[in-house]
Order: sequence, then structure tokens, then C-alpha cells
Amino acid sequence: MPSVIAFTCQRCGHCCEGVGGIVLSAFDLERLGSHLKLDRNALLERFTEHVGGRHRLVTGTDDSCIFYAAGCMVHQARPDVCRAWPYFRGNIIDADSHAMAAEDCPGINQQASHAEFARQGRDYLMAHKLCRSRGEDVPEALVIDCIPDTPEEAEHGRPGFDAS
Ligand code: SF4
Ligand code: SF4
Repeated sequence: MPSVIAFTCQRCGHCCEGVGGIVLSAFDLERLGSHLKLDRNALLERFTEHVGGRHRLVTGTDDSCIFYAAGCMVHQARPDVCRAWPYFRGNIIDADSHAMAAEDCPGINQQASHAEFARQGRDYLMAHKLCRSRGEDVPEALVIDCIPDTPEEAEHGRPGFDAS
């Protein structure tokens, strides 16, 4: 275990507020549709909007994500960007973005350095298979180079890292 934990979610729901942040890949749509037992067209029609060539979740009347109600109602099938936050590309490669994210997300430990946050973030993303190459429907936040050092790390994450 690292000596300083860079992030522990406080379940405050702030990251589920606002418009436009939850961009969906084809795989996200498939997983969500399967979970909700909706075909792709029904899912797109009921819960998404198409903006700038991307599908994204809409918000409810409270300006939170349509699936937020004192917690995520689709937790098991939530999109990859929700799984990856706060380990987004910008926060991993840029210390200023990390500092700004920490102002909004109380789960980010401000005692942890940006380097430590980035290191733990890459480990987390690698362990959860959330690193992506740039592609047509890939959210930019997930485009992160986290190449493992060994095949074992690719399969299981780095030693000492709890991927649960
Ligand atoms: S804003 Fe941060 S602490 Fe709050 S629910 Fe989102 S990830 Fe967790
Ligand atoms: S899908 Fe769930 S985790 Fe993602 S923004 Fe919506 S309520 Fe939050």
C-alpha cells in the first residue's frame, strides 16, 4: 500500500452534477443498455443527447446526471469516465488541473503530491483496464499512456496495489 492514499471517494455526489461531462463510448452504451434491458435506440432516446459527434448522458431537473439519486442508480454499469474519475488524463499530466480538481472533489487528498496522485492514478487505471488509445468514440479524459512494465502488471496491476 502507498504511504499516502491520493484519493478516497467521499460519496458526496459533486462529480455527478453538471451538464455534458459523461461521454459514452460504444462499449458504455452496450453495458448500460444491457443493465437497463434497453436496446441501443431506446437508451439513446431516453437518457442521452448527441452533441459534437458524441453521445453523452443528460441531466435531470436538478442538473445532476439523470442516473443520480442520492447515489448512482446504475453503479454496476456506470460509464468508464465515472469509473476513472478523478484519474482523468488532464489531472494526471498536469499539476494545476489536479489542484483544481481537488477543490471540487473532497476525495482527492491534498496532502498527496501530484506525482504520487499520477502514479496511483496510472496504477488504478491499469488495474481496472481504463487506459485508452485515442479513437472516434473514446472520451479524451481516458486517453492515457499507462503501459505496464511487465505482463504480470498488465494482468494484475502493480504489486502492493489494491485494485478492489
Ligand atoms: S466529487 Fe469526489 S468524493 Fe465526491 S463523489 Fe465524486 S469522486 Fe467521490
Ligand atoms: S452514471 Fe452514475 S456515477 Fe456517472 S455521473 Fe451518472 S450518477 Fe454519477
